[in-house]
Amino acid sequence: MRLILFDIDGTLLWTSGAGRRAIHRALLEEMGTAGPIDTYRFDGKTDPQIVRELLAMAGHPDCESEDRITAVCERYVSLLTAELAKPTQTTSLYPGIKELLSALEPYEAEARAIVGLLTGNVRDGAALKLRSAGLDFARFAVGAFGSDSHRRSDLPAVAAQRATERTGRRFSGADLVVVGDTPDDVACARPMGARTVAVATGFYKPDALRAAGATHVFDNLGDTQAVLHALFS
Ligand SMILES: [Mg+2]
Repeated sequence: MRLILFDIDGTLLWTSGAGRRAIHRALLEEMGTAGPIDTYRFDGKTDPQIVRELLAMAGHPDCESEDRITAVCERYVSLLTAELAKPTQTTSLYPGIKELLSALEPYEAEARAIVGLLTGNVRDGAALKLRSAGLDFARFAVGAFGSDSHRRSDLPAVAAQRATERTGRRFSGADLVVVGDTPDDVACARPMGARTVAVATGFYKPDALRAAGATHVFDNLGDTQAVLHALFS
């Protein structure tokens, strides 16, 4: 059985900057500074990592405080709710995502696959973004989130453990496939020997994802049959 773990931002969907705006405001309201946020890259990072790094770059004395980082992330979730509810908000799924998720259903029904999330979003933020794009959070059987660890590299093992609890099966090495849009998605898969399907719908070009060591690289996930072949190869 394959455990297929999808990243969210840049891979499944794009929130048109709503996540960035919500974190920016949450930092200002909770901590009084958002550091050098205008030049800081979010992709591939977990939400608590983003908060900690921006506070550290701002020289904030509480940049290592778990309680303060959690408080920013909680405020972020309520601000994200408001951002995503704005009439001007557009959250878009990338080409082929709906079709791919539908095409995976028979594999799940036959116990050939379990489909989950592996994302730097905190769990509640992940659910909000998916809903904003018309996807049901419950469609994903398991997940590992930024709220589980600051470090993305911890997340494949968290997801694998949850998949084991759900199915009674063990997942290791090539049983795991991480689908993501950044070199960090590719790198996080390496310690477990997981395979990676990288997609260039985010910031990174195919060459950069190939150089990061991705097993398969696509411009987008629009060719359902080719992506299925990669996921189950
Ligand atoms: Mg991403």
